[in-house]
Amino acid sequence: MCVLKFEKFSGDTTSAARVGRVTTRHGIFDTPAFMPVGTQGTIKGILPEQVAATGAQCILANTYHLMLRPGETVVAELGDLHRFMAWPGPILTDSGGFQVFSLSDINVIDEEGVTFKSHVDGSIVQLTPERSMAVQNALGADIIMAFDECPPALAPREYHVAAVGRTLRWAQRCVAAHGRADAQALFGIVQGGTHPELRAQCAAKLVAMDFPGYAIGGLAVGEGFEAMKQVLADTVPLLPDDRPRYLMGVGFPRDIVAAVAAGVDMFDCVLPTRNGRNAYAFTAGGPIRLRNSRFVSENAPIEAGCDCYACRHFSCGAIRHFFFAGEMLGPILVSLHNIRFYQRLMSDIRRAIGAGWFDEFRQTDPRCRLGPAPVADASAGG
Ligand SMILES: [Zn+2]
Repeated sequence: MCVLKFEKFSGDTTSAARVGRVTTRHGIFDTPAFMPVGTQGTIKGILPEQVAATGAQCILANTYHLMLRPGETVVAELGDLHRFMAWPGPILTDSGGFQVFSLSDINVIDEEGVTFKSHVDGSIVQLTPERSMAVQNALGADIIMAFDECPPALAPREYHVAAVGRTLRWAQRCVAAHGRADAQALFGIVQGGTHPELRAQCAAKLVAMDFPGYAIGGLAVGEGFEAMKQVLADTVPLLPDDRPRYLMGVGFPRDIVAAVAAGVDMFDCVLPTRNGRNAYAFTAGGPIRLRNSRFVSENAPIEAGCDCYACRHFSCGAIRHFFFAGEMLGPILVSLHNIRFYQRLMSDIRRAIGAGWFDEFRQTDPRCRLGPAPVADASAGG
């Protein structure tokens, strides 16, 4: 088979939403898809079989973290990332670019790449397009990402102009350095901030390079919901209809639904697990904080009707106790619920598009309005 196949099954008549399936050498995933994030080679606290039981079919790991520790050669010596993560299905690795720009203490950004101080041991490390490809080739994920420059959301336009130019030159270097094009699909990343003409220029040049899939980067970094929707409306139609489209690092259910309507197929975000570890549970009625005192004697599950392991077996009162007692099971159970919440949302989105009522779904389903709103019960303390 070719390295990656995308089949589009049906499209929505009222929006650009579509249902499809991506086939990789390690199996398939249905789109629109949400990929849970396993930053350090593990989805924190959750066994792979439990991740699979939530309905997740493709997961993500971070190149930046794994190259610094344990190092890509160690992962390769231990088999590859599928063996390392005990995940036989599809895996995507990012390029390391976003983490270098957002997490690290950067020394120099130049045409060659980015030189930064490792957050693990303080050593000076250089990440270049060639190095990102070598690391991702060694890790062995099914989908790998081009190394791009990710300017801050509010960077001046001139910075975005320079970053688009560099992102395009780096994308060409990534294609040239990709050593396993027969086994791993390399996606290009569209940058350009909130400037439509820069997004269009970046998209056109990447499309001319004929990638098997395309990502939209540099969103959900503080530009706001309306600006994000505008960038998607301007950019997604410029990407080929027969390739998967991936919106990186997004987001809240509201953002995902809006992006699906714009024609995006793939998503990843740390929200379900990061918030889950902090006792923040997603529910259709809005987020709840399980440390809140109102849950002390609450015998109900996190969300009535949820079929996840946490909701089938545990009361909110018990989960609240686990958080206050510092028990591992608290973060585990809420992470599990949140991942299942996201997977239920995605499967309901796919079903709604396939059945021809996605427009009604996004107007009426309360989950489609869940954004970074203040927590409803925050004032109750606890
Ligand atoms: Zn649940």
